[in-house]
Amino acid sequence: MKFNEVRWIIIVMFFVLSITNIWFGLFGVICMGLPIFQALRGKGKLHCKSHCPRGSFLSKVVSKISLRNSLPKFMLTNGFKNTLLIIMGVMLTISMIHSGGNPKKIAFGLFRLMGISFIFGIVLGIFFKPKAWCAICPMGHSTTLITNLKTRNKFKREQIEEIKKKRA
Ligand code: SF4
Repeated sequence: MKFNEVRWIIIVMFFVLSITNIWFGLFGVICMGLPIFQALRGKGKLHCKSHCPRGSFLSKVVSKISLRNSLPKFMLTNGFKNTLLIIMGVMLTISMIHSGGNPKKIAFGLFRLMGISFIFGIVLGIFFKPKAWCAICPMGHSTTLITNLKTRNKFKREQIEEIKKKRA
């Protein structure tokens, strides 16, 4: 069986294990950090395309019950995506501050944030297209922002190199 076919099981396991033992909530940091890490390494949206268990769950499981409507246009604007990214960032920061550095509370904070976004993703997937969440996902949006920034910087560096060569 190919990894691609079964990677959605990872997110199910994450919630099952975290409900039985909250320490597993700490694995949420991988789910949130990996897309950013890969984008910073110049891999663009590799995580979304090939690794993300949540995206896989939406396309493999939620697709079976999805009404497949289009998302309202306002949800596809950068303003909406940036707002959602800021809200998630603020929620994460507040729960980390409230944890006072206690790993168990950090695990719970990560689990709660993962749970809220997971439920939100499923609800969106049912009423709209299965992967509607991916169009507004703060992690996916962050990788787009990082990739755009890296591409712009690379373009600028290439332009500077070209100018230098012409002057030499
Ligand atoms: S957009 Fe978000 S949920 Fe969708 S595949 Fe990427 S990281 Fe996963």
